[in-house]
Amino acid sequence: MDCLFCKIIAGEIPSTKVYEDEMVYAFRDIAPTAPEHVVIVPKKHITSANDITEENIKYVTAIWAAVPKIAKDLGIAENGYRVVNNCGKDGGQTVGHLHFHLMGGREFGWPAG
Ligand code: AMP
Ligand code: ZN
Repeated sequence: MDCLFCKIIAGEIPSTKVYEDEMVYAFRDIAPTAPEHVVIVPKKHITSANDITEENIKYVTAIWAAVPKIAKDLGIAENGYRVVNNCGKDGGQTVGHLHFHLMGGREFGWPAG
Protein backbone atom coordinates (compact mmCIF):
# COMPACT_ATOMS: atom_id res chain seq x y z
CA MET A 1 0.00 0.00 0.00
CA ASP A 2 1.29 3.42 -0.92
CA CYS A 3 0.99 5.03 2.49
CA LEU A 4 3.52 7.47 3.92
CA PHE A 5 3.01 6.44 7.53
CA CYS A 6 3.05 2.71 6.71
CA LYS A 7 6.44 3.36 5.08
CA ILE A 8 7.63 5.23 8.17
CA ILE A 9 6.49 2.34 10.40
CA ALA A 10 8.33 -0.10 8.10
CA GLY A 11 11.48 2.05 8.27
CA GLU A 12 11.40 2.69 4.52
CA ILE A 13 11.17 6.42 5.20
CA PRO A 14 13.30 7.78 8.06
CA SER A 15 11.71 9.23 11.16
CA THR A 16 12.76 10.31 14.63
CA LYS A 17 11.15 7.74 16.89
CA VAL A 18 9.97 8.86 20.31
CA TYR A 19 7.95 5.79 21.30
CA GLU A 20 7.14 2.32 20.03
CA ASP A 21 5.28 -0.71 21.27
CA GLU A 22 3.52 -3.69 19.73
CA MET A 23 0.67 -1.63 18.29
CA VAL A 24 1.89 1.97 18.30
CA TYR A 25 4.62 4.03 16.67
CA ALA A 26 5.28 7.68 17.51
CA PHE A 27 7.71 10.05 15.81
CA ARG A 28 8.53 13.74 15.62
CA ASP A 29 6.43 15.74 13.17
CA ILE A 30 8.55 16.94 10.25
CA ALA A 31 6.89 20.38 10.40
CA PRO A 32 6.30 20.99 14.10
CA THR A 33 3.68 23.53 15.14
CA ALA A 34 4.72 23.51 18.79
CA PRO A 35 8.02 23.06 20.68
CA GLU A 36 7.03 19.41 21.12
CA HIS A 37 5.02 17.88 18.27
CA VAL A 38 4.74 14.14 17.91
CA VAL A 39 2.64 12.08 15.51
CA ILE A 40 1.23 8.87 17.03
CA VAL A 41 0.05 6.16 14.64
CA PRO A 42 -1.34 2.63 14.82
CA LYS A 43 1.01 0.03 13.34
CA LYS A 44 -1.98 -1.29 11.39
CA HIS A 45 -3.19 0.80 8.47
CA ILE A 46 -6.46 2.51 9.40
CA THR A 47 -7.28 5.29 6.97
CA SER A 48 -9.06 7.74 9.26
CA ALA A 49 -11.26 8.05 12.32
CA ASN A 50 -14.13 7.04 10.05
CA ASP A 51 -12.54 3.60 9.78
CA ILE A 52 -12.30 2.85 13.50
CA THR A 53 -14.28 -0.30 14.27
CA GLU A 54 -14.99 -2.58 17.22
CA GLU A 55 -12.28 -4.82 15.80
CA ASN A 56 -9.47 -2.27 15.45
CA ILE A 57 -10.29 0.10 18.30
CA LYS A 58 -7.65 -1.68 20.38
CA TYR A 59 -5.11 0.31 18.38
CA VAL A 60 -6.75 3.55 19.46
CA THR A 61 -6.80 2.33 23.04
CA ALA A 62 -3.09 1.54 22.75
CA ILE A 63 -2.40 5.01 21.34
CA TRP A 64 -4.20 6.67 24.25
CA ALA A 65 -2.38 4.42 26.71
CA ALA A 66 0.86 5.70 25.18
CA VAL A 67 -0.11 9.39 25.33
CA PRO A 68 0.66 10.01 29.03
CA LYS A 69 3.91 8.03 28.77
CA ILE A 70 5.10 10.06 25.79
CA ALA A 71 3.98 13.33 27.39
CA LYS A 72 5.95 12.45 30.51
CA ASP A 73 9.03 11.56 28.45
CA LEU A 74 8.78 14.86 26.58
CA GLY A 75 8.44 16.78 29.85
CA ILE A 76 5.07 18.28 28.96
CA ALA A 77 2.81 16.21 31.21
CA GLU A 78 2.73 18.70 34.06
CA ASN A 79 1.94 21.83 32.06
CA GLY A 80 -0.41 19.96 29.76
CA TYR A 81 -0.71 19.35 26.09
CA ARG A 82 -3.14 18.92 23.24
CA VAL A 83 -4.02 15.74 21.32
CA VAL A 84 -5.64 16.24 17.92
CA ASN A 85 -7.05 13.97 15.26
CA ASN A 86 -7.80 15.54 11.91
CA CYS A 87 -10.35 13.52 9.93
CA GLY A 88 -11.03 13.98 6.26
CA LYS A 89 -11.11 17.13 4.15
CA ASP A 90 -12.90 19.44 6.55
CA GLY A 91 -10.84 18.13 9.46
CA GLY A 92 -7.64 19.00 7.62
CA GLN A 93 -6.29 15.44 7.31
CA THR A 94 -3.39 15.35 4.84
CA VAL A 95 -2.06 11.82 5.40
CA GLY A 96 -4.53 8.93 4.98
CA HIS A 97 -3.33 6.84 7.90
CA LEU A 98 -5.05 7.46 11.24
CA HIS A 99 -2.85 9.57 13.50
CA PHE A 100 -2.99 11.73 16.57
CA HIS A 101 -0.94 14.87 17.03
CA LEU A 102 0.51 15.25 20.52
CA MET A 103 1.61 18.83 20.96
CA GLY A 104 2.99 20.73 23.92
CA GLY A 105 5.51 23.24 25.16
CA ARG A 106 3.23 26.22 24.55
CA GLU A 107 -0.35 27.29 25.20
CA PHE A 108 -2.97 26.57 22.57
CA GLY A 109 -6.00 28.64 21.72
CA TRP A 110 -9.57 27.45 21.67
CA PRO A 111 -11.72 27.03 19.64
CA ALA A 112 -9.48 25.45 17.02
CA GLY A 113 -9.09 27.46 13.82
P1 AMP B 1 -2.54 15.79 9.20
O1 AMP B 1 -2.43 17.11 8.49
O2 AMP B 1 -3.39 15.81 10.42
O3 AMP B 1 -2.90 14.68 8.24
O4 AMP B 1 -1.09 15.49 9.75
C1 AMP B 1 -0.05 14.96 9.00
C2 AMP B 1 1.22 15.37 9.69
O5 AMP B 1 2.26 14.56 9.21
C3 AMP B 1 1.62 16.82 9.42
O6 AMP B 1 1.71 17.53 10.67
C4 AMP B 1 2.96 16.70 8.72
O7 AMP B 1 3.88 17.71 9.09
C5 AMP B 1 3.43 15.33 9.18
N1 AMP B 1 4.35 14.67 8.27
C6 AMP B 1 4.24 14.55 6.93
N2 AMP B 1 5.28 13.85 6.43
C7 AMP B 1 6.06 13.53 7.49
C8 AMP B 1 7.30 12.83 7.64
N3 AMP B 1 7.93 12.29 6.59
N4 AMP B 1 7.82 12.70 8.88
C9 AMP B 1 7.19 13.24 9.95
N5 AMP B 1 6.02 13.90 9.88
C10 AMP B 1 5.47 14.06 8.67
ZN1 ZN C 1 -0.80 3.37 6.34
